[in-house]
Parts: sequence; C-alpha cells; structure tokens
Amino acid sequence: MKLLLKQGTIVTSERSFVGDLLIEDDKIVQVSDTISTSADKVIDCQNKIVMPGMVDTHVHFRDPGITHKGDCYTESMAALAGGVTTICDMPNTNPQTISYQAVKDKQELYASKCLCNFGIYIGASRDNLEELKKADEDNTIPAIKIFMAESTGEMTLAEDEFLRPIFAQTCKMIAVHAEDENRRLERLKLFKEGRLPENSEIDLKNPYQHSIIRDNLVAALGTKRAVDLALEFQRRIHILHISAKEELEFLEKGAKTGLVSGETCPHYLWFDKEQIRDYAGLRIMNPALKSQVDQQTLWRALQTGLISQYTTDHAPHLLEEKQQEYGKLPAGLPSIQFALPLLLHAVYQRKLTLNQVVKLYSTNPARNYKIQNKGDLIEGFDADVVIIDPNQKLFINSKIVLSKCGWTPYQGMTLQGGSVVITIRNGEVVYDHGQIVARTKGKSIKIKE
Ligand SMILES: [Zn+2]
Repeated sequence: MKLLLKQGTIVTSERSFVGDLLIEDDKIVQVSDTISTSADKVIDCQNKIVMPGMVDTHVHFRDPGITHKGDCYTESMAALAGGVTTICDMPNTNPQTISYQAVKDKQELYASKCLCNFGIYIGASRDNLEELKKADEDNTIPAIKIFMAESTGEMTLAEDEFLRPIFAQTCKMIAVHAEDENRRLERLKLFKEGRLPENSEIDLKNPYQHSIIRDNLVAALGTKRAVDLALEFQRRIHILHISAKEELEFLEKGAKTGLVSGETCPHYLWFDKEQIRDYAGLRIMNPALKSQVDQQTLWRALQTGLISQYTTDHAPHLLEEKQQEYGKLPAGLPSIQFALPLLLHAVYQRKLTLNQVVKLYSTNPARNYKIQNKGDLIEGFDADVVIIDPNQKLFINSKIVLSKCGWTPYQGMTLQGGSVVITIRNGEVVYDHGQIVARTKGKSIKIKE
C-alpha cells in the first residue's frame, strides 16, 4: 500500500519546506520537494502542515482496572484526534504495573485495544528490585517509574533504603516524579495545625491549600535529590512534570552531564495557582500549579530547550469525582486531545516555532526515551504523521471530547494555531476530519539498545 502526501508544508525538527511525503506500508520511504510515482491513495496537503505524529511519554490511560474513568481504547481515540500516535502509560493502574509479568499482560491488553502505538512503564516498589532487573533485559519497556512523593495510586517510594538500590542495580532510564515527600508531609501537618502563615488567608477545606502544601520548594528539593542520585550513580533519569522555576537550576546541572532530561505539561503552561480559587478540583494535579512567574519561566525553558520535552500527564477523572471536596477529590487532568492544538496556539502567539513544537512533542521524547524510528519525518522511520489545517480554529468544548470522562479543563478556549485534520499511524489513516477510522490497533514501541 502506497500513500502519497502531496505538497504540504513539511515540518521536521530541523526545517520546514513545501514538499511530498511517500509512505509504503508502515514506513516513510521518501521525503522530498516533489515525488513522481503512482500511489494507491493520494492526499492533497496544499495549505496544510505535515508533521511527525506526537510522542507522549507520560499518560494515565487508566487501563487495566480504573476503566470507569478512561480505558486504552477511549483515551487513544482522544490521542489520535489530537495528533498523538505514540503514548507511554504509567504504572499506577490496577493491578499496578510493578512486576515483569504485569507489564507483559498490560502490553497484551494494549495490543488488543489501544489505537496508538504504546510503551508500558514498570513501576518501582519497595520490594520489586528483581522485577526491575528483568525489565532491564526487555527492549519494549521504556523506563522505570519512581514516585518520590505521594500521588494517585499509592506508589510512593521516598526512602533512601529503597531508592539507592534501584539506582545502583538497574540500568533502564528512570522517570521520576520528583517532589520532596518529607517537606510535603511537614507542610501538610503544619497547615492542619494552623501553623503556616497562609492559614490566616484560607480555611482548612479550601482546595487552594494544595499549592501551599506542595509549594515550589517541595518540587525543587525533589528534583535536586533525583539529580544528585543520577550524578552519584551515573544513571540516566528523566524529570517528570517540572512545575517550579527553582527546579531548573538542578535540571540544568544534570542536563550538562547528559544524564538528565526534563518535561513540563500543558496545565503548568496555561494555568496558574490563583485559578484554584475559582476552579477548585478542576485545577488540582500533582505537582500543584505554581505562580505566573513560574509559568513564564517554564515557557522560557521550553524556548531555550532546557526543558526538552512536553507531555500531557493525561489523567482522566470523572467530573463528579473532581467536584468533591478537597481531601476526597483526585489529582490530575485530562488533556491529550488538545495538547498539540495548545502548542500550535503558542506558535500563533509567537512563543514557539513549528520546528520547536515538533522537537518538544515528538523528536525529543523519542530521543530521550531512545524510541526506535519515531519522532521525525525521515526516510525509514515509522509512518506516524499528522496533518494540520493551520487556518482552522479549534473551539474547545465538552461535546467534542473523546476521553471517557467527557470534560476538559480547556473548555471555552479558542485555539488559533490550527486543527488536526488527519492522523496517520503505522501508515494507516486512523483519524480523518473528526472521525476515528482506525481498522488496526497500535504496536508496542522498541527501545534502542
Ligand atoms: Zn503522571
């Protein structure tokens, strides 16, 4: 099967030019100014942007076990509609993906249901070092996930006695939820006892406390500790969901050695902590939202490339769950369907270039995680491609949400950088002008040795 994309503006990580792209079966076989060949199908891409499919290495598709919120079929539909063709799913499902066998079972589940290509993390626990070592031998597993602080799923691993052996005895990249659990617990205790200065401003039920307890220093101390461990053990780590400006100093120190990379997520770029006052649970996630100054600093770090990756941390919860009182409501936001259009809007606002969008959400994720043959429009790479109409505005409302949870925190926004019109995954048109048309399922990623 030959599929020819004609005369689109082809945007790679390095350049943009008007040209043709030829796909044969599931591979990109040619990218150039003009390609003269017969094809089984030709898509006219004039006045459209052609980009590599997005690679989102941080999602929570809730499958298996928490599927009333989302499952790998519904959430992958939302992904494809948002131009995301590859995802890596976190281990805080039910059962937790903390044994080698659980990873293999979850891979089988995703191969039968998930419409995107996928990678399945293995999570670290107090007693699964041998399982992590087994995962080291398997090049379909993207990384080990460590939750250094409390978050959804009760997988916290904060003590040196558990962390250090993992750094010492495994080899796969470690993706870290870097917050300082001791400081978090201390601030929680002080707040409940009414002993923080902020106690004078808000009562004990106010969800705004989330940003007071999980403050900038909780994030920065977590990142410092993770970077220190990486340097001590000479291990490759990736800092998840960077939210505070103070984290960047430690990221930079680690990045200089080539051992440390980092990501941030749409909510830290478009929202700030003051919004918790109006939106309550709909602005609660871990780490917590920070200030507008932090937000501006994160944008600058994306522009300079210090933060080399953008991921969603897509975390669907039902609206009624998010509307519960603070203490009961779960942390996390759904976002995968609009993550790329949000970045395109940032291009419209001249905060980023299209090449930077490709780097942040496709090329660098594939590079950081060493995912084979993905993340750019290069001959020989997998044919994961997204076609964007830059002249089509996107009005975000819950009616167009494909996630099972059926709502979006970006409700009401008008994005002016363009809309995804066609998504191609493994050479197959899987999303076409508002419709999911996938006939096949996604495939497991492979990590370069
Ligand atoms: Zn997460």
